[in-house]
Amino acid sequence: MKNRLQDNLQGIGMTSQRTRDRLVQRLRDEGIHNQRVLDVIRNTPRHIFVDEALASRSYEDTALPIGHGQTISQPYVVARMTEALLESGPLDRVLEVGTGSGYQAAVMAPLAGEMYSVERIRPLLDQARERLAALQLRNVQLKHSDGSWGWPEFAPYDAIIATAAPEQVPESLLQQLAMGGRLVMPVGSRQVQQLVLITRTASGFEQAVLDQVMFVPMLGGTE
Ligand code: SAH
Repeated sequence: MKNRLQDNLQGIGMTSQRTRDRLVQRLRDEGIHNQRVLDVIRNTPRHIFVDEALASRSYEDTALPIGHGQTISQPYVVARMTEALLESGPLDRVLEVGTGSGYQAAVMAPLAGEMYSVERIRPLLDQARERLAALQLRNVQLKHSDGSWGWPEFAPYDAIIATAAPEQVPESLLQQLAMGGRLVMPVGSRQVQQLVLITRTASGFEQAVLDQVMFVPMLGGTE
């Protein structure tokens, strides 16, 4: 795995740079405007976050299967969530629920101070750990656990990003937000979900709806 990752990282030629530029242009066309977000997406090798058989499709703006019934998020949605958090306040301490392939963490990490990410499926977490290490992203700590409980040890967080959809926002995630902290996540059923941005204020929580989205469900327990 390590050797394949190194080979794939070194084997990035002109073609894939052009392919990545095309993805960034598409995100721009779809309304992503933050240059720092677009730059990180351009510089993040999404092809190492999917199985080799899918690598040729990895710069398409689409979710792709990563095994265990899970998917790597669509680049547009990754960009949208990252941009919403980056433009609404500090990112000194960030929690992600649902590490999955590790791609969203790799996009967020260069923009964040300390990043914490939890995943309930052990083999996905182990693979993500190797990929993030290959990219030398040393400010990300990973944990195998049910992230609907957050990661209380390092709370409060300036920002929380969840990449799996519960039917309702878990109370523990709200409680682990710092004052002024923001939580971005999909909420809803398997068929209909809204991407919400919740801000903790002195008087409570404010909520805005950013988009209609389709994420895998947030599940309890670990496997
Ligand atoms: N951010 C990921 C998206 C992966 S899909 C990426 O960029 O690839 C969402 C992930 O959330 C899946 O891997 C799923 O196993 C995980 N997940 C679902 N419910 C969870 C929970 N309660 N705690 C932690 N992870 C969870």
